[in-house]
Amino acid sequence: MYAPLDPKFLATPEGQEAQRILRACVHCGFCLATCPTYQLLGNELDSPRGRIYLMKSLLEGGPVSPLTQQHLDRCLTCRACESTCPSGVQYGRLVDIGRAQVEARVARPPLARFQRWILKSVLPQPLLFRPLMLAGRMVRPLLPRSLRRKVPAYRSPGSWPPPRHGRRMLVLAGCVQPTLAPGINAAAARLLDRLGISLVSTPRAGCCGALAHHLADEEAAREAMRRNIDAWWPLVEQGGVEAIVVTASGCGTEVKEYGFHLRHDPAYSDRAQQISALTRDISEALLHALDTCDLGQEALRGGGHTGALTATRVAFHSPCSLQHGQKIKGVVEGLLLQAGATLTPVPEGHLCCGSAGTYSFLQPELSRKLQANKIAALEQGTPDLILTANIGCLMHLAAGTDTAVQHWVEWLDARVSGHHQAK
Ligand code: SF4
Ligand code: SF4
Repeated sequence: MYAPLDPKFLATPEGQEAQRILRACVHCGFCLATCPTYQLLGNELDSPRGRIYLMKSLLEGGPVSPLTQQHLDRCLTCRACESTCPSGVQYGRLVDIGRAQVEARVARPPLARFQRWILKSVLPQPLLFRPLMLAGRMVRPLLPRSLRRKVPAYRSPGSWPPPRHGRRMLVLAGCVQPTLAPGINAAAARLLDRLGISLVSTPRAGCCGALAHHLADEEAAREAMRRNIDAWWPLVEQGGVEAIVVTASGCGTEVKEYGFHLRHDPAYSDRAQQISALTRDISEALLHALDTCDLGQEALRGGGHTGALTATRVAFHSPCSLQHGQKIKGVVEGLLLQAGATLTPVPEGHLCCGSAGTYSFLQPELSRKLQANKIAALEQGTPDLILTANIGCLMHLAAGTDTAVQHWVEWLDARVSGHHQAK
């Protein structure tokens, strides 16, 4: 696509990058069929190709309005279009650049600004988020059913094995996950411990930065990245850290891109690249651990514990960040099958569930429609349980169904250790 960008913008690294991405798009429209917002709204301007045209126009110095902002806001950044595009257009990167430009040129109404500020300020801060969740749990029985589903009851995380092995991996604690579902990382630690690897959590590492990044606050995102690098680096430098494990696929996508986001920061660029290179989704880490441990694949059979203790008919929801962001496809499903699960069919598995970070707060109507469609697809095969790989998707799906929803790592841990499945 020919794109004569505004010369001042073209002189910046973002301008060069945007031009390269725009040139790759050949307007074929293959991406329209897999775009969730185009499927719902049927408007070309709510499709990848339409948004690319909007961004091309604004980056060329053309007019930009609240309507442009609305079409970009409605994008889930699910990146399904990237998976479909035959020309390798990096839509996710382009929309970051486009949103930053729109943010600078179009002022949001005060209420919208306040809403975004609250999301950016509260969610990444466990010290603020935890008391709010605690208060929510205290009044949970009094809440209407729809709200009650958004406040998960407290569940004990179970034990975290002491660091007894020579092999070691670090794990990202994250921001909301330790409050909402502390059992996920503990389950990952128990699984890796069985395979001869100690999982170590570093208290000073927190939010990965994705929240601020997707709200177009690049500097706040980079601050979170630098803080995590500072927390991990002394341990990485000591040597012996095989990987940085992330159990939320949305956060994993972000940490894998630290090297890119901090490429212009001379104090952090080298370390950021090394941190990204070390980062693994928990599915990749477990696969590697299984390949390299003495127990081998037998470790997943868990000494004969069977479906009497855990549900076996499961529907797996692969988050967009896992399949489109990190391009990890079939790995979790393979591990679940090995552990004895029966995977029920999930039509249109490439489509977003509508969680998409803060999207469910900022675009509630579209988000609810996507949630309903996704739950109908997941329940089509009448599973006992829905499994997923990202805390945001987990909470969003659980709020819309009576079927139990769990992180797949917790299911696998219960399966191999014989613990009762938590409902
Ligand atoms: S599929 Fe790729 S090349 Fe075709 S219109 Fe979409 S982004 Fe452009
Ligand atoms: S990222 Fe998702 S919602 Fe946005 S244009 Fe691409 S497919 Fe559509």
